[in-house]
Amino acid sequence: MKTVTILGATGSIGTSTLDLIEREPENFQVLALTANCDVEKLAVAAIRTNARRAVVADEACLHDLRAALVGTGIETAGGAQALCEAAAMGADVTMAAIVGCAGLEPVLAAIEQGGTIILANKEPLVSAGDVILAAAAKHGATLLPADSEHNAIFQCFDSARPHRVRRIILTASGGPFRDKTLEEMRHMTLEQAVAHPNWSMGAKISVDSATLMNKGLELIEAARLFPVANHQLEVIVHRQSVIHSMVEYVDGSVLAQLGPPDMRTPIAYCLAWPDRMAAPMPPLDLVAIGRLDFEAPDPVRFPALRLAREALEAGGARPAILNAANEVAVAAFLERRIGFLEIAAIVEDTLNCYDPAAPDSVEEVLVVDAEARRLAGVRVKDCVA
Ligand code: NDP
Repeated sequence: MKTVTILGATGSIGTSTLDLIEREPENFQVLALTANCDVEKLAVAAIRTNARRAVVADEACLHDLRAALVGTGIETAGGAQALCEAAAMGADVTMAAIVGCAGLEPVLAAIEQGGTIILANKEPLVSAGDVILAAAAKHGATLLPADSEHNAIFQCFDSARPHRVRRIILTASGGPFRDKTLEEMRHMTLEQAVAHPNWSMGAKISVDSATLMNKGLELIEAARLFPVANHQLEVIVHRQSVIHSMVEYVDGSVLAQLGPPDMRTPIAYCLAWPDRMAAPMPPLDLVAIGRLDFEAPDPVRFPALRLAREALEAGGARPAILNAANEVAVAAFLERRIGFLEIAAIVEDTLNCYDPAAPDSVEEVLVVDAEARRLAGVRVKDCVA
């Protein structure tokens, strides 16, 4: 029996995680579930799983959460500190599935307990990779990647012989605009941007997939998680999303992990690791799929990938600025305040006007993050004006 805490339990990844653990109640016991403010979904999940604690990040929602859980015996709490306390309850397994850098401090609180952390929430790893990896090493925490690409690499990577790896090849679906011209992309709406052709995901990562910033963040994520040089990391567009990523060895062998485009496969892998558990997937029907296509990403239509590569190469504060500016720009796009192509432009402008020293503590990362958000916010206002 493993105890499980889900940070971001009401989101796309959180819901998939709940689906899996509720299929095996004899193997998983829920400790804490958290959300930002979706009280109804959180309360229903907490009751269904008999969670010990339910927490909302937005304190204004705590009153409603208490009302929804009155008489159940489930503890309730609200606010940023309460989120960290929930993460620090000592679960055997913590699913980190908050969206954005808002997940940084809760993830660190979970890592300090030394258990297993399943990382879906990629933004903290992008912004504060060194801090997170140092904390995991110090506290003996195990980080398992849930992102489908990194999970695929994790399954194919011979960690005993990293020097025998020639390349890591990250696959990208290309997103909903992979066949659009730049001019067409200029006019794409929110609804079109979140309509991903292969995956069902939260709004922010869906927009990141449309700009290819998601693949850029994943490039940086891969550099943090696997002991290879930056030039060994490549991205190719593979529109069917059947091969989730590949590892090439010096002898020319290429190992790939294949599977349906459903996050329950990599999440199940992490939940059961080092064992395996059943996930409700039909067998992969390669005959029906018929063909697997590959192409190079287009750097002109998708500048976000170039910006992420540059941030990775430069290191220091650059990845944190890239991520913070992107979060602000995507939020503005989701509020219909800016156009689709302005997302990458705002990220680039923010990177161009802010170049602080490399942060080396979580506090310093948060200072960089806050200033980059402020600058990107000013740039958003320019677009709106
Ligand atoms: P969703 O938007 O679907 O869910 C986000 C979750 O985080 C919700 O539970 C939400 O609560 C909570 N949340 C939002 N803002 C805050 C905040 N400020 N403080 C605390 N909690 C907050 O996102 P996804 O599930 O799609 O993605 C989660 C993470 O996983 C992201 O980092 C994403 O990049 C990564 N990921 C997602 C994949 C996917 O298929 N969805 C695939 C690979 C990685 P509420 O519901 O109350 O708003």
